[in-house]
Amino acid sequence: METSITLDLTMPRLAPETAPEVPLVERLAIIGTGPAGLTAAIYAARAALSPLVFAGPELGGQIALTTEVENFPGFPEGLTGPELSRRMQEQAQRFGARLELDTVTEADLHQRPFVIKTAAREHKARALIVAIGASPRKLGVPGEREFIGRGVSYCATCDGFFFRGQEVLVVGGGDSALQEGLFLTRFASRVTIVHRRGQLRANATLVDRARANPRIEFTLNHTVTEIIGDNAVRAARLKDLATGQQRVVEINGVFIYVGQYPNTSLFKGQLAMDEDGFILVDDLMETSVPGVFAAGECHDRLFRQAVTSAGFGCMAALAAERFLAD
Ligand code: NAP
Repeated sequence: METSITLDLTMPRLAPETAPEVPLVERLAIIGTGPAGLTAAIYAARAALSPLVFAGPELGGQIALTTEVENFPGFPEGLTGPELSRRMQEQAQRFGARLELDTVTEADLHQRPFVIKTAAREHKARALIVAIGASPRKLGVPGEREFIGRGVSYCATCDGFFFRGQEVLVVGGGDSALQEGLFLTRFASRVTIVHRRGQLRANATLVDRARANPRIEFTLNHTVTEIIGDNAVRAARLKDLATGQQRVVEINGVFIYVGQYPNTSLFKGQLAMDEDGFILVDDLMETSVPGVFAAGECHDRLFRQAVTSAGFGCMAALAAERFLAD
């Protein structure tokens, strides 16, 4: 089962002949290519800062793993996450943003200019925007890790196709669970949404759509306590939180959407964070280190929308531009 995104292969890249020479010290580096990082790149590039943008382990960020985006302004008929991501990247590159596909492995914010290392080389930058996003949270039950790629997935876009005609569980009651559950009905014969409460957290439009879908069932007030299988997932153990009773249901896949955690371990001890690892910023998106800005889901634990991340990316770029001018 394939869990990596195919986006990497299809996205247009800056042609080598148009690539500018690598400066000794970048004015601005941006880490992350989700809506926050790419919007920051568009604004910074239009301000002639020629930002160097590090793609990170997932080019396009989480939005590139999302099936349908229906609430990004300007696209009334909706578009796919990879397509939105591709367009943002194209827009940033059009104005001179340079994309570095390597992942940042180390950053030293004690030095000036800041030092950013990838496996391939070391870069220096006077200002930095950290837009490294968040990753799917694990459920933490027996069998989960063991069956990743063999029936356990965090990405319906990547893996839904493999469950044609099969029965799957979707764990979670938020927008992601319902949206991706709806997407999975294109392939699976039955999608059961397992949620720990009686009340779904997802927005009313998604809830109504899911309730109207004949392939979707809800198992509320339940948790998954174990994922069972041999060479692939065959069943899951569910616990009824009202009665405490457990039962085993036969299924072929478990898609987990129980929230995210910020990808901020690279900056632990260097940037001030809250107790859950979200980077703390001021009104100008500046972190505890002057000249380092943060944007998107690595700092925002409240809104977490593609459009709010894009807005934060814009703010961070404008603030970085002002910092560099000063
Ligand atoms: P989320 O809103 O944090 O929802 C996570 C869900 O997982 C909640 O229902 C939560 O239950 C449940 N959960 C958490 N820990 C659990 C555990 N250990 N066991 C079982 N269930 C657990 O995350 P999300 O759905 O990924 O959404 C993230 C953000 O992206 C949100 O701001 C959302 O609005 C946004 N988003 C928007 C769209 C859209 O607009 N179309 C689509 C996708 C995501 P409780 O409800 O009991 O807390």
